[in-house]
Amino acid sequence: MPAPAVSATPPDAQLGEFELIRKFFTRAPVRAALGVGDDCALLGQRAGTQLAISSDMLVEGRHFFPNVDPRALGHKALAVNLSDLAACGAQPLAFTLALALPQARAAWLEPFSQGLLALADLHGCELIGGDTTAGPLNICITVLGEVPTGQALLRSGAQVGDDIYVSGTLGDAYLALQVRLGHLTLPEPVFAAARQRMEQPTARVALGLALRGVASACADISDGLLGDLGHILERSGVGACIHTGAAQELLAARGLYGDNHAAFEAQIGSARALQCVLSGGDDYELVFTAAPAQRAAVQVAGHSCAVAATRIGQIEATPGVRLLDANGTQVPNHYTSFDHFAA
Ligand code: ADP
Ligand code: MG
Repeated sequence: MPAPAVSATPPDAQLGEFELIRKFFTRAPVRAALGVGDDCALLGQRAGTQLAISSDMLVEGRHFFPNVDPRALGHKALAVNLSDLAACGAQPLAFTLALALPQARAAWLEPFSQGLLALADLHGCELIGGDTTAGPLNICITVLGEVPTGQALLRSGAQVGDDIYVSGTLGDAYLALQVRLGHLTLPEPVFAAARQRMEQPTARVALGLALRGVASACADISDGLLGDLGHILERSGVGACIHTGAAQELLAARGLYGDNHAAFEAQIGSARALQCVLSGGDDYELVFTAAPAQRAAVQVAGHSCAVAATRIGQIEATPGVRLLDANGTQVPNHYTSFDHFAA
């Protein structure tokens, strides 16, 4: 029987499992030899490449608010996975989608799939399969990317003396979360910009590709700068110092106040800005290291994809992270990063 036209389904209609897969998640394969519809998808692999594979799960009430816009949620579910590919310098190829849904409503599935597939198209990353079940809302994506053999950016490559960089701006997602949790109020335009960062992050895929052969180590910032930089330090067996003055400038909301420093201090404040940047998660920027000899190359990589790369510190031999003020004096580090199982 031919598939019914999309417009034939009332938005509040309950769909069956296979009807919803066919209607919202089945498209003609582009690169894959076989996509949705069989027991497995088939994907060829090019000679001289390695597959980069990563999974990320979003759980309602833990990673997103129950009333979040489904289109933004579809975007974010894939963006957080693409961000892992970016961190490895891998080119996105394909992904699978495992979905638990309380109800199969077209009114939710249509914008969710549109947000998801629009971002997928932007990166040429095709949906090749998945699983669908009834249950509490839970979205798990596994993404596959391609990287020339031996060229993936790893967490383990940082060397003593390397510079530490952060891409784009940082901390605004956490700023928006604090507003949503009622801990802070902000003028509407400031909140709107921060909320955009929380709900529709941009994965730095082009930057990750441009940093191959330039960065010595890289990670994406999902749980907070200190936590994710900490993974690089641990895997590389090194420590770091961070310049707090440079770090707090990374908060994009600061720029919205222009020269009105008094308003910025009254509404957000430098201490909170630093806390958002160091501890706040969910921005999906890249933290990476590169030898000082690569400074010009780092800037070229950033310019090539219109993303700032800000130098915020150096790799040192002594384990741990030291925070330095503008005078180079060490200040207390009482910041932590997000941990799902922390008390
Ligand atoms: P199986 O039971 O053999 O695992 P299913 O009956 O669950 O397969 O799924 C049928 C087909 O639909 C498979 O090709 C599977 O990959 C695909 N699929 C299921 N759910 C999704 C989804 N949410 N998005 C994309 N493809 C899906
Ligand atoms: Mg199945």
